[in-house]
Amino acid sequence: MKITEVETIPVHVPIKAEVTMKTSHGAHVVSPYVLVRIHTDEGIFGLGEATLSPTWTGETRPGGLAVIRDLFTPLLLGQDPRNVNALMRELNRVLVGNPFAKAAIDMALWDLAGKAAGVPVHQLLGGKVRDELPIKLVIGAVEPDAAVVLARRFLDWGVKTLKVKVGPGDDVARIRAVREFAGPDIPIGIDANEGWDIPTARRLLAELEPFNLYFCEQPIPRHDAEALAELRRSTNIPIKADESVFTPADAIRMVQHHAADIFSVYPGKHGGITPTLEIAAIAKAAGLAVTMGSNLELGPGTAAMLHVGIACDAFRAEQFPGDYVGPWYHESDLLKTPLDLGLPNAKAPDGPGLGVELDDDLVEKYRDTTLKADSIG
Ligand SMILES: [Mg+2]
Repeated sequence: MKITEVETIPVHVPIKAEVTMKTSHGAHVVSPYVLVRIHTDEGIFGLGEATLSPTWTGETRPGGLAVIRDLFTPLLLGQDPRNVNALMRELNRVLVGNPFAKAAIDMALWDLAGKAAGVPVHQLLGGKVRDELPIKLVIGAVEPDAAVVLARRFLDWGVKTLKVKVGPGDDVARIRAVREFAGPDIPIGIDANEGWDIPTARRLLAELEPFNLYFCEQPIPRHDAEALAELRRSTNIPIKADESVFTPADAIRMVQHHAADIFSVYPGKHGGITPTLEIAAIAKAAGLAVTMGSNLELGPGTAAMLHVGIACDAFRAEQFPGDYVGPWYHESDLLKTPLDLGLPNAKAPDGPGLGVELDDDLVEKYRDTTLKADSIG
């Protein structure tokens, strides 16, 4: 089998008005992502998604389109897509960083490898270790009244666990309001997305301890492992590293500094499925928990997360429900058949490859025609 064409589809999908997402990185009102279809001479194609976010990795959509077209496509054309490891090694050789653009290619190659073998990606990863993946939904850093409206909506939808964004606004008032509404039995975690400085984090974690939070994610900026470790020692709330862990080397640094109790991982952030599994293995060996994070993916990116979550033993899926949530927030996931996302539990698709198909009408509806859709073959 040979790759004949790498097709990129820029899309522009709004977040649903009724769920709004606001974090320390800003308001997320629309997702300017790039879908990838890798075509082959055997008539099958693989699907991937570059969940690009300038505030997260510095990856823009024009930049993502350019690296896929100018750097990745020449390395892929004529190659057998089932050689995922060798092809991803080539991509990593020509470009440092850019995990979300790399992950789009990686997902499409795994999708093709699964379709060629007639098995789901999770089977290629060694098979399921669990049947279901509990989900938590995420409340943005909004005013307390609005946070309660969202908590009510999400619990009505059937979710059993919540995460609340902190950083902008009155965090204590927001967390108090959500905890009082949800009652004592709903696990609640928080995510500051690097939005606190060290003294603020120390003060707020102390003030928030009475609200029985089961984790605090990325309280301070990503690079200071020593400060994160010091903060961890000063609080009883388990610390989760998200922006601090992009690469396996980042994960080792976090372990060496004893800076976190939990790692948030997902294929987009790490440049594909294999590095995600590598980071999960580091966490497991160090005795840390792993949970699935998210950058609000559409259907293909969420499917890749589900295959990893269902197959990787390092995830503590029950204790730390995952962020398999992008389709709950977007106007559309762009799929022909929606993913089975519960609530409260998600399941991984069982069809060949990623097990998802794009809906051509939805793709056209959300295609961003202001950018050139490059198709090189
Ligand atoms: Mg996070």
